[in-house]
Amino acid sequence: MKALVIEDTLTSATLVCHQLRKIGIEPLMARDGPSGIEMFKEHRPELVLLDIIMPGMNGYEVAKRLRQLENDGEWTPIIFLTARTSDEDLERGIAVGGDDYLVKPVSELVLTAKVRAMQRIAQMRYSLVVLTRRLDEANRQLLRLSAIDGLTGIANRRQFDEFLTREWGRATRNGSCLAMLMCDVDSFKQYNDLYGHQAGDDCLRSVARVLHEQLKRPTDLAARYGGEEFAVILPETPLDGAVALAERMRQAVLALGMVHAGTASGMVTVSIGVACTWPQRSGPGGDALLKVADDALYDAKAQGRNRVVAVRDEAREAEE
Ligand code: GH3
Ligand code: MG
Ligand code: MG
Ligand code: MG
Repeated sequence: MKALVIEDTLTSATLVCHQLRKIGIEPLMARDGPSGIEMFKEHRPELVLLDIIMPGMNGYEVAKRLRQLENDGEWTPIIFLTARTSDEDLERGIAVGGDDYLVKPVSELVLTAKVRAMQRIAQMRYSLVVLTRRLDEANRQLLRLSAIDGLTGIANRRQFDEFLTREWGRATRNGSCLAMLMCDVDSFKQYNDLYGHQAGDDCLRSVARVLHEQLKRPTDLAARYGGEEFAVILPETPLDGAVALAERMRQAVLALGMVHAGTASGMVTVSIGVACTWPQRSGPGGDALLKVADDALYDAKAQGRNRVVAVRDEAREAEE
């Protein structure tokens, strides 16, 4: 450990340096404020012992400058060395950034005790800074993770909800349309029963990847809505465009060629419900759009699965 002693009186400086060496601290000596500041910049000592009365720049001024040189989160204990001990001196020393006082001539015992106390505080402070950084990092990580579905790696329900709210607002302001796909794996309960839950999880991962891969625009979002259901939001996409994408998704899942003895095609397939609306006309909230897409999905299931069904926006068509 290094300590910087800034003291113009040679006898006092020599004595303090000698005492520091005795307790295992390497002293650096500066005989005036400006050279002390330079040595502080160069050596970054862990402790500063600072005389108050010095010709030119006094100790208060030096302390102020030293504090300005510290980076965010850094703290170097500063102990004033002085013959003066009035309450006003003490108050002023602390106000400009000092941490403690030592009365000259410095007692070896008191110096040792105060240096130890400062080391202890510095260590605790350092631990706190490290801990705070780790907490910040963990929080960032948590935020990132909480937007991602743990099984499939695509957006989770939470991100979907936020995205829908945001895009609904944007479409309302811009007078643009918003399309939604609800996609459900066919007879998936049976898939689990036939091939096991592990295979079921692998299947969901593959389906999620394929759906995600079909998206061409960076503004589109595919999310795991829950269980074996996926939802896709397509801003500024009219119904026929959304249906075409849904059809591509359906074929891409089929083309994975994942065997499923429980479906008509003998492969893993999905059913997709498609809806599209103009939020500016249909009023607040995306729940109604979700409901329409879900109804369309229900129809796709009822019609035999492995198909795309779209529900036209009747409110819109009535107007036209
Ligand atoms: P349908 O064609 O009508 O959609 O029939 P289905 O069997 O797919 O629908 P149902 O809602 O009856 O069953 C969904 C099944 O999906 C139930 C559950 O076992 C399975 N499932 C939901 N989440 C997961 C998951 O994370 N992993 C696995 N392996 N299976 C899941
Ligand atoms: Mg002096
Ligand atoms: Mg389902
Ligand atoms: Mg299903």
